Amino acid sequence: MDRDSSSDAHGRHRCAACFRQFNKMEHLVEHMRVARHSAHEPRCHVCHKHCRSFEALRDHLGVGGSSLPKAATCADAFAARGCAICLRVFPGGGAAAAHRAECRLSRTPPSSARLLRQPQPQRGGALALGCKMVGAGSDGTLDVCARVCVVDEGENLLLDTYVKPLIAVTHYRYETTGIRPEHLRGGSNCVSVKAAQQRVQDMLLNGEQPWKVRSSRGRARLLVGHGLDHDLAALAMDYPAYLKRDTATYPPLMKTSRLSNSLKFLTHTYLGYDIQTGHQHPYEDCVAAMRLYLRMRDQKHLPRRAGADDDADAPQQQATADQAFPAWRQRELERMTPEELLRLSTPDYRCWCLDE
Ligand SMILES: [Zn+2]
Ligand SMILES: [Zn+2]
Ligand SMILES: [Zn+2]
Ligand SMILES: [Zn+2]
Repeated sequence: MDRDSSSDAHGRHRCAACFRQFNKMEHLVEHMRVARHSAHEPRCHVCHKHCRSFEALRDHLGVGGSSLPKAATCADAFAARGCAICLRVFPGGGAAAAHRAECRLSRTPPSSARLLRQPQPQRGGALALGCKMVGAGSDGTLDVCARVCVVDEGENLLLDTYVKPLIAVTHYRYETTGIRPEHLRGGSNCVSVKAAQQRVQDMLLNGEQPWKVRSSRGRARLLVGHGLDHDLAALAMDYPAYLKRDTATYPPLMKTSRLSNSLKFLTHTYLGYDIQTGHQHPYEDCVAAMRLYLRMRDQKHLPRRAGADDDADAPQQQATADQAFPAWRQRELERMTPEELLRLSTPDYRCWCLDE
């Protein structure tokens, strides 16, 4: 019997995604069962190795990190014709230089934001939410929402208002928030928590009923943000998990340790500019989260398998993925090539490239 093409001279079996080697085919099958590799993982453009996250890919390429590159040949090619922001590699140095100039974004000052009084209801698309918190409680460490912003995919401001906290503010955190007592005293640009929640909810639901959105999206919009649950809790509102796009918990944007990165770090690293210096306007957080979301959504991954990603807007899509390597198929799986195993594998998160 021929050995399959991917086992080396020592009869070892190499994972087609992460290149780990296993002495026994059954160990490779077990690895595939837990690794949840897929075409949606960040990949080295030189050797095509899959990585769990962009951070792991940066380590592989030796980009901006303190450690030596894990793959010296990839790092050399990357240094000559790669983009340190999106981590793509180009055919030549000229193409790489032209691309880099476009890939690095710059800060959009809040003063240049266009305020749309009426969001176009017929247009779908995602909305990004950002809140600024001030401190309450005896030591000022309790976060309460004092300002809220919503932007659309075109970075237009749909909402920018101060919010009057329900409990006494003990620390305005002025150095970072720029918020003073007079901002929160009411008036035309300061609303109640309830009113802020209602406005955010109306924009997101886009005419759909809240109960309906729990099971099917309809016209409801995707909600983008960083640490969305914290922001939503501050507004005392809920939104279905399958409609949230959170840059703090999206696996490709997380640390290798599976902890969240800060929005400031993500913006610096993957968009190429700095936010949250001086007085922080939530508009800038919204724009940064939206830009990160759009970059992730616009990634070109392999063509979808017919049927596999259909009806991706319905909740509870991922649950069945673990069925890809059932124990009763063990024998059959052990006879497959590593490439065939990889084709069966499905990710344990829903890639944003599957959004419209
Ligand atoms: Zn692997
Ligand atoms: Zn994808
Ligand atoms: Zn590589
Ligand atoms: Zn780039």
